[in-house]
Amino acid sequence: MSGHDVDVLVVGSGVAGLAAALAARESGAERVLVAESEGVIGGSSRLSGGLMMGAGTRYQRAAGIDDDWEALFHDYMTLNQWLVEAAVVQRLVQRAGEAVEWLGDLGVEYYDQLVFGGDETKPRVHCPIGRGQAVVDVLARHCRDRGVDFALGRRIDRLVTDDGVVTGVAAGNDVITAGAVVIATGGFGNSPEKLAEHFPSAANTGWSWYIGADGSRGDALDFTRDVRPQLAGHDRGLRLVHSDFDRIYEAYLPGWIVLVNREGRRFCNETAPYGIMDGLMKEQGDVAFAVFDHRTLLNATRLGTARYKQAIPGSSKKQSPHWNLDVIELMLKEDKVHRADSVAALAGLIGVPKEHLVATVERSNAGAESGDDADYLKDASFLEPIEAAPFYAVEVRTATVAFTACGLRTDREARVLGEEGRVIPGLFAAGEVAGGIVGPRYVGSGNSYGNCVTFGRIAGQEAAAHAR
Ligand SMILES: Cc1cc2nc3c(=O)[nH]c(=O)nc-3n(C[C@H](O)[C@H](O)[C@H](O)COP(=O)(O)OP(=O)(O)OC[C@H]3O[C@@H](n4cnc5c(N)ncnc54)[C@H](O)[C@@H]3O)c2cc1C
Repeated sequence: MSGHDVDVLVVGSGVAGLAAALAARESGAERVLVAESEGVIGGSSRLSGGLMMGAGTRYQRAAGIDDDWEALFHDYMTLNQWLVEAAVVQRLVQRAGEAVEWLGDLGVEYYDQLVFGGDETKPRVHCPIGRGQAVVDVLARHCRDRGVDFALGRRIDRLVTDDGVVTGVAAGNDVITAGAVVIATGGFGNSPEKLAEHFPSAANTGWSWYIGADGSRGDALDFTRDVRPQLAGHDRGLRLVHSDFDRIYEAYLPGWIVLVNREGRRFCNETAPYGIMDGLMKEQGDVAFAVFDHRTLLNATRLGTARYKQAIPGSSKKQSPHWNLDVIELMLKEDKVHRADSVAALAGLIGVPKEHLVATVERSNAGAESGDDADYLKDASFLEPIEAAPFYAVEVRTATVAFTACGLRTDREARVLGEEGRVIPGLFAAGEVAGGIVGPRYVGSGNSYGNCVTFGRIAGQEAAAHAR
């Protein structure tokens, strides 16, 4: 199709890259190559739950859910207080449902049950059977079947340009020319330096750790520097509440936990979706204390399954890895858990005003008694009194970095915009590497996968057209 080595070259083999490669082939690009720095296909996408946001799908209709992209657009923009590019978000929500169905047509199977990801008005989260790995496997299989080539262990370190037009990439001395380049290299959660620069709220918690793939080093922020792309989405991404017991990922707090701030006051519904909880914790300086009593801890441990509000179909019912008696006893010895015989003494141990904590616990207990959380409307099924000594408090911070959302600014055709605002010819980007699409409030579960697959497809289609 072109005088280059390949028509479309995709950097990165997560779902954004795989969707781009397959869509490029479907759109007529004959020679498509995916370059991947690691020895395995899939990046963070394969470690992921693969939950995907999309509106107006056949899966929703089958479940009797009346939804459309306009409703998702409204929810998305409102949750993000319009601090995102409206036209790009419009394209995302118009195409996300179609992208969910495209995956379904390719062979991804979803559970019948859809869930609410965050605080939206309709259940829009599609849950794939086999999680993210299954989605990666399906896409990779179709790529191979369609003749897409993969170059694993090939870490791209620069772009090749010709008079301002991107015409290829290079890894060391290996140069490969292309009619168009799609960058889909994921985020930068694995780079402490880039976190500090582009997502300081995630870098500054003191306990920060990242749950994604090794390849999330933010290489693209370095290797695109010469073409001077615009960056968007500073200090955005997703952080989860973490107790510093161990580096085990737990997306939600069990609902029975009561959170108080440094003033010893509650500040939220503890079962809030994680996209909301991230912002609520930020307002508290990213520190809070989980407070509970021995009886509730014992009951939760005996129950054997974590009492999360969110129930993802197919996720095995298991004990919370942190909030059970064995772990709490162990962490007492490491001084990561505080225990006292009275609430007032507990306040002294964690350094919050005694009168505040005592009053907070009284009010919380009244809510548990009446089944009515008069302050934050937590579901009655999670309301537990804090009344049976000993009492416990655990410091938590928003320290688990789940993904990063600052990156190359793209328009609604997934074209990368330069510093001045002009399109950089020949350069497209999709997925976590693109900035400005996922906003200050993560709309999810499913926001990132929705973005990656939808804009991966768009990038592939546009790149194929550009290569022509
Ligand atoms: C445990 C976990 C659970 C999650 N669950 C969900 C969920 O259920 N729903 C949801 O929406 N989001 C979820 N997320 C987030 C979501 O999965 C990711 O944001 C998304 O998969 C990123 O996809 P991507 O294609 O942009 O990047 P990735 O999947 O990370 O792929 C990028 C690829 O580029 C490669 N690469 C990087 N640099 C180079 C280079 N220089 N040269 C060549 N290749 C390079 C990387 O090695 C990697 O393979 C989760 C994340 C994690 C970690």
